[in-house]
Amino acid sequence: MTAQYDEAKRLLPIIATAARAGQHLTYQIAAEKLGRPKNNARTVAQVCDLLDAAAALADVPLLALTTVLTVGLRVNPAAWADTEPEIRNAIINRSKAHKFTNAEIKAIDAALDRLKGYSNRTAWPYLATLMPSGERRLRLAGVGTAAYSDAIDDLGTDSPGVTTFVGKRYARDPQVRAAVIRRAGGRCEYCGELGFECANGSRYLECHHILALADDGADRMTNVIAICPGEHREVHFGKRRSVIETEMIAKVKAAEALRATRPAG
Ligand SMILES: [Zn+2]
Repeated sequence: MTAQYDEAKRLLPIIATAARAGQHLTYQIAAEKLGRPKNNARTVAQVCDLLDAAAALADVPLLALTTVLTVGLRVNPAAWADTEPEIRNAIINRSKAHKFTNAEIKAIDAALDRLKGYSNRTAWPYLATLMPSGERRLRLAGVGTAAYSDAIDDLGTDSPGVTTFVGKRYARDPQVRAAVIRRAGGRCEYCGELGFECANGSRYLECHHILALADDGADRMTNVIAICPGEHREVHFGKRRSVIETEMIAKVKAAEALRATRPAG
């Protein structure tokens, strides 16, 4: 499918010029610039998706995603629709805030050449053969490499009377924590081990926000995992933390899918 590639090659400099001027295009305007009827917005969105695949391959933020918008000047609601909302937002925000350099535009162009013969539909699965999709999403979201300022912040929050805290604290919904602990059923949601038995008979697990609240991670069940204390420290401080994070995202997704099949309780 070289047609999509050809149009992406023509659209890239148009998008780059708009982005540099701090302007946006709509899918309709982009269609006109490509010599297509205005009602070809959907086809243009696919060309933009191929350009985003090229940006991902070039390891730069997604230029087309936040430069070419709907008539209401919103990011295409279909883009990344199957991605965890907090990661989708992080991908969009990082791309929005980014000032693209000439070198980055050239890198997208070169990556596009590597995708010649692919359509947006086949390009992403190809990218997934080079890097797991979860890791790719985290890279596009700009997380997994940041130093965590709220490391081990979950510890001690159940006994606020005996801790002092200076600085910004993020509100945590105790219902989310309780629901995650229920979901875990006493077993670490990362390694599957039973938590040690507490004096009150419950199993000890710690709740970890996979995307830190400080990084705009959501205080929701889809972003919280119940894990062993050792793994909690490792995911904050360990060399493998970005790998563990990716695994945790997959495990929480699976746990949530399983929960959806069970009666509430
Ligand atoms: Zn564990």
